[in-house]
Amino acid sequence: MIDLTQYEVWFVTGSQHLYGPKTLEQVAVNSREIATALGASAHMPVKVVFKPVVTTPDAIRELCLEANSSKNCIGLITWMHTFSPAKMWIAGLSLLRKPFAHLHTQYNREIPWAEIDMNFMNLNQAAHGDREFGFIGSRMRLDRKVVVGHWQDEDVQADLGMWARAAAAWADWQGARLARFGDNMRDVAVTEGDKVQAQIQFGYDVYGYGVGDLVKVVREASDAEVDRMVEAYLDEYEVVPALQPGGEKHASLREGARIEVGMRKFLEAGSFKAFTTTFEDLHGLAQLPGLAVQRLMRDGYGFGAEGDWKTSALVRAMKVMSEGLKGGVSFMEDYTYHFSAGGDKVLGAHMLEVCESIASNRPKLDILPLSIGGKADPVRLIFDANLGPAIGASIMDMGQRFRMVANVVDVIPTDAPLPNLPVARALWLPRPNLKVAAAAWIYAGGAHHTSFSYSVTAGQLHDFAEMAGIEFLLIDENTRVDEFKDKLRWNDLYYHLSKGL
Ligand code: MN
Repeated sequence: MIDLTQYEVWFVTGSQHLYGPKTLEQVAVNSREIATALGASAHMPVKVVFKPVVTTPDAIRELCLEANSSKNCIGLITWMHTFSPAKMWIAGLSLLRKPFAHLHTQYNREIPWAEIDMNFMNLNQAAHGDREFGFIGSRMRLDRKVVVGHWQDEDVQADLGMWARAAAAWADWQGARLARFGDNMRDVAVTEGDKVQAQIQFGYDVYGYGVGDLVKVVREASDAEVDRMVEAYLDEYEVVPALQPGGEKHASLREGARIEVGMRKFLEAGSFKAFTTTFEDLHGLAQLPGLAVQRLMRDGYGFGAEGDWKTSALVRAMKVMSEGLKGGVSFMEDYTYHFSAGGDKVLGAHMLEVCESIASNRPKLDILPLSIGGKADPVRLIFDANLGPAIGASIMDMGQRFRMVANVVDVIPTDAPLPNLPVARALWLPRPNLKVAAAAWIYAGGAHHTSFSYSVTAGQLHDFAEMAGIEFLLIDENTRVDEFKDKLRWNDLYYHLSKGL
């Protein structure tokens, strides 16, 4: 359900008329070559469209307006091959509503020491041309990504590719529809927030439904549809004997399948990209949806439990950012701790809803009591998560504004098997350590729910937060609590004042 190939970034080269047509022709040839190379890079998940070199304020303005109205264009990559006096960019950049990355590169990699003349200098002057362009971006207080280096270098292409993924996630949010089955878990604070402000700022729309609306669709699921779903389960998972056909709890598996058929239909009919549930509002549903949620997340839907629409939107955004990459993205919760000499560890899990995309092994499909919510035992997938570096991120509504906080962690093997733990799980060491990471997270007001990914990077989340115009706080190996607290205070001031900057 996520297709990055539909998206385009436009490669825009700035110049001016002073150089004469011959130089401008060469600029166009060089620029096209760079755009083609970026588009062909394995790191670039979207199309790179070469746009004619712009040399006048009118052409720049027209191009920005065209980008705004293009459905497939998710942003611009700008580059000043020669010198493009930046006042020419004011009108266009004032109107531009799409993100842009400023590629600071030059066509020639090296200086040809023996041959260099003024022709070479004219054709390779981004070193100052891009600074002129950079000034106007800063003068206009525009958030943008600056990527420096030769265009053929892999790290430059990787940085632009990661930025394009963030831009795709941003485009995906615009006009996105999120469904909430039931409201917020009663009394919980951090999952609440201003949905009107979120729509104004983030572009997605949150729709609330009574669980009865979903129950109706679940009940309409035909036996044949349930049969097909059960077959898929038997094919894909290690299904415990009790749930298999003829097993004493097979009816519960069929009920889980019926819920999945209904949820899929509901979400598809409404063109939703993310959804929430809450175990407190399950009237008419026999089980809390566990398996269904895990599988829907695997297929690209964002999800948040207990009515957590902000996390569901973030899970969706990170699914888009990581589409086609290894590692997976899941809804996650910091669940319980292991304090030990070997490093204080976090066991991440949820009541049920951890995405299959982060599974390191073939999941076991089991049925066990939930011990909360008072419904029938739910079916769920149980597995250990992938190992390696990962990141957990969360968006909170701080009242006046939204904040994103993220922590880089290292997922490690559990010290011993967990034969009685009935949910999917990930064990990690937070960076730099739990003492610092948890203190910083708590000072920041970070939620207990996160979107958890092995492929999305901190830099990418930072890019995304800037596209959204929100604060980004990173907790990683360089974090110190005292500095972090200062940053919180300075940022409060900055975001309060920045509306006037
Ligand atoms: Mn929760």
